[in-house]
Amino acid sequence: MQKIKKLWQKIDPFSLQVRLTIGITAAFAVGVGGIAVWTTWQMQQILIDGHKQNIEQIAQRLPGDVEVYSEMFSLEIGLQKAIANRSTGKTLIWVKHNNSNNSIENLVPNDEASIKLMSLMRSPLSTRVYEIGDRYFVVCGKFLQVKGQQLGLLFVAQDISYEQRMFSSLVQSLGIVSLIALIIITIAIAIYIKKSLQPLRRISQLAETISVNDLSQARLHLHRAPTEVKELACTCDMMLDRLSEAWEQQRQFVGNVSHELRTPLTIVHGYLQSVLKRETNLTPTQREALETAEIEAQGTIGLLQDLLDLARADAGYLHIQIESLVLNDLVIEVAAMAMQQHDRIITLETSREQILVKADRSRLKQVLINLFDNAVKYSDSHLAIAVVLDLKAESTLIHVCDRGLGIPLSQQHLIFERFYRVDEARNRSAGGCGLGLSIVKTLVDSMGGSVTVRSKLGEGSTFTVTLPSAA
Ligand code: ADP
Repeated sequence: MQKIKKLWQKIDPFSLQVRLTIGITAAFAVGVGGIAVWTTWQMQQILIDGHKQNIEQIAQRLPGDVEVYSEMFSLEIGLQKAIANRSTGKTLIWVKHNNSNNSIENLVPNDEASIKLMSLMRSPLSTRVYEIGDRYFVVCGKFLQVKGQQLGLLFVAQDISYEQRMFSSLVQSLGIVSLIALIIITIAIAIYIKKSLQPLRRISQLAETISVNDLSQARLHLHRAPTEVKELACTCDMMLDRLSEAWEQQRQFVGNVSHELRTPLTIVHGYLQSVLKRETNLTPTQREALETAEIEAQGTIGLLQDLLDLARADAGYLHIQIESLVLNDLVIEVAAMAMQQHDRIITLETSREQILVKADRSRLKQVLINLFDNAVKYSDSHLAIAVVLDLKAESTLIHVCDRGLGIPLSQQHLIFERFYRVDEARNRSAGGCGLGLSIVKTLVDSMGGSVTVRSKLGEGSTFTVTLPSAA
């Protein structure tokens, strides 16, 4: 019952599959139903026509018989003999006299239906079927005239109850068989339509799940689909080709531009640093301008480096050298740097003195620097940042926790995307460009790990990096 309920809930009345199934089944039911009704009617007519001819013949010949018998007997006895001669078990013949209710009949009917039929017949009638209770009769009635004398009304009736019952049960069985056939055909049509629409579903699934990373591989290979769908799939494949090409060109362009800009900018940054260090006769305004230029140049070099790293990772050229390293030492080193640089307190909690992980030293440093930078940027300067190292069976977790602004739940899955920033207002002062976390994710993924976030707006965030343990 539960299963049927679930199946019923799954059916979408607006889907093409349901509409086509209902349409075809309805057309089929109307067609077959129409033919069945027409055939049944025709069969009934054939059945009745046979009996009609028989009783009409009896009604036609009876006056002649009476005439022959009345040569030998009186008219009354001749009539009785003629009726008895023509009667059979299923054929009722009776004559109603004009001026009385008395009648002469072949046999005294002992069943209720025949008595009722006889009492109902009062005037001449063309041949037709009468239904009395569960019995059926074909009856015709006409005036009986012998030797120019009106004897009354002659009625001939044939009991066709048995044939009618057989016919009804045949129609009933045919109806049941047709219904079962209709159900089977409906199911078969539904399955066939579902199969035919499968390629369309694949196209929509592909369009739904495709990402920039699998643009070049994702193709629809629909060899056995209907021609129209195959054409659509072909067009989709061609569109994916063009998109993939355009995306590749764009990636190469970003990589090349980043590379070309980084070298001159590094030189400019170097000169600015040396001028700031060596020149003692700078006015405060000149010093301030040079310091601002130096900070901006450094920020832009960082951005270009991030773009280059991402372009290399996309092209599969990101250089990663995995080694076993003591995580505690590395975290202490990076935390010390961050504390000095940002003038903030970073605490370390660890379950063991030495935790060994498999990672690329410089890439892991880069990951931690980015996470510390964010924790510093998005929390108040008087609040401490905590790093917790947690050794599990086969992996090690690095939690970077702050008690800062937090990230709304609806945006937590988006922050690892390139150039995504939660709220422009909160970022403008901090100066981020939305690449830090996508670099973190790319680097951690390429080291065989993963990164997740748990955060509550207004209470803080915890970024967790999971890396494979070395021992
Ligand atoms: P950005 O350079 O802008 O910091 P990121 O990729 O590092 O870019 O981060 C993406 C967005 O995620 C940021 O714009 C910021 O709003 C949010 N975010 C990242 N880390 C934190 C954090 N520790 N606390 C609150 N928000 C954060």
